[in-house]
Amino acid sequence: MTVPNTALEIHLASRPDGYPAEENFAVAEVEVRNPADGEILVRNLYMSVDPYMRGRMNDVQSYSPPFQIGQPLDGGAVGEVVESNSPEFQVGDTVLHGLGWREYATVSADHAAKVDPDVAPISAYLGVLGMPGLTAYAGLLRVGEFKEGDVVFVSGAAGAVGAVVGQIARLRGASRVIGSAGTPEKVKHLVEDLGFDAAFNYRDEGPVVKHLAELAPTGIDLYFDNVGGEHLEAALTLLRPFGHVVLCGAISQYNDKSAATGPKNLSAAVGKRLTLRGMLSIDHGDLRDEFIAEVGGWIAEGKLHYTETVVDGGVRQAPSAFVGMLRGANTGKMLVKLA
Ligand code: NAP
Repeated sequence: MTVPNTALEIHLASRPDGYPAEENFAVAEVEVRNPADGEILVRNLYMSVDPYMRGRMNDVQSYSPPFQIGQPLDGGAVGEVVESNSPEFQVGDTVLHGLGWREYATVSADHAAKVDPDVAPISAYLGVLGMPGLTAYAGLLRVGEFKEGDVVFVSGAAGAVGAVVGQIARLRGASRVIGSAGTPEKVKHLVEDLGFDAAFNYRDEGPVVKHLAELAPTGIDLYFDNVGGEHLEAALTLLRPFGHVVLCGAISQYNDKSAATGPKNLSAAVGKRLTLRGMLSIDHGDLRDEFIAEVGGWIAEGKLHYTETVVDGGVRQAPSAFVGMLRGANTGKMLVKLA
C-alpha cells in the first residue's frame, strides 16, 4: 500500500476542567516519519479510549506522566505494519502498541507486540484480551484473592473491566455475582447476556447501599471497585468479616471539580478485618499467558461474552468517543475504528 506523506493525530489543546469538551482537543496534520533502525511504521486500525487518560490530562504527576498541551495524546492501539526497519516485524504483521490517537505511528520495535488475528478479532486485544481483561483477571483472582463460593459485587459492571470481572467470578464458582451500571439496558445485559445473578441501576432512586442490600441480603465477600465514592461506602457496609476490596478505579470522581467525597465508613474495615488493596494492571504482566489461555478458552467455548462499542469515522471521532465513554455511552469496551 502507498503510505501518505502526512496523516492526522489528536493533540491536547488545553487541560479539561471537569468533563472534557471538544475544545480541549485539536486535530493536527503531521508528517508521517519513516522508521529508523529498530522502528516500524504502523497504520493504526483501532485505538482505545480509557478512563486513566482523563487523569493524564491534568497537570499532575502520577504513575504515568501527564499529557502535554500541544502534543499528541497516546494510548493503546492495534494496527498493521506498513514499513519495517526491524528484523522482528514483517510488513503485514498486526501489532499492539502504545501510540494511539493517530492514523500512523512510528514505533520502536521494543514497544510493539505481535497479535494473532486468527485467534481473536484484533480489536479484542484492546479489551477483553488486552489491558482491561488482564486488569479484571489479576484484580479479581490475585489482588482480591477470590475464593470459590464468594459473593462478588462489581461496579462499572457493564464496562470493559467490570463485565469481565463478573463473568470470571461466575465461571470460577462465585456463589452470587452482583453488578451495578448506569442504565436499565445495561442492567438487563448483565443479567440476560452475561449471566450475572443480579444487577441494579445506581441512577435509580435511593442510595446505592439500599439497592445493594436488597440484592445481597446476607452481605458480600469481595467488592471490585471501579467507581469509588458512594459505591465504595455501600460495599464497606455490606462486606462480611475478612472480605476483600479491589481498588481498581474511582471513575465517579475523575471529572469532579470539588473535593472528592470519600467513604464515611472506612472504619468499618477495622472491626470487619477487611483487606482493601489498590492495583495497577502494569504490575501483573506475569499473568498474561495464563490470562490469555483461560479467558481466551472461555471465549472460544462460548462461556464468556464480550461486547464492544465501536465508534466509526476515524481519528477525528476519538475525542467524542473518549468523552462518551466517561459519560457511559459504551457497553463493554469503547473503541475507535481508525481505518
Ligand atoms: P468502562 O467501564 O468501559 O467505561 C467507563 C464507565 O464508567 C462508563 O461506561 C460508565 O458506565 C461508568 N461511569 C461513568 N461515570 C460514572 C459514575 N459517576 N458512577 C458510576 N459509573 C460511572 O471503563 P474501563 O476501562 O472498564 O475502566 C473501569 C474502571 O477501571 C475505571 O475506574 C478505570 O480507571 C479502572 N481501570 C483501572 C486499571 C488499573 O490498572 N488499576 C486498569 C483499567 C481500568 P455507566 O453507564 O454504568 O455509568
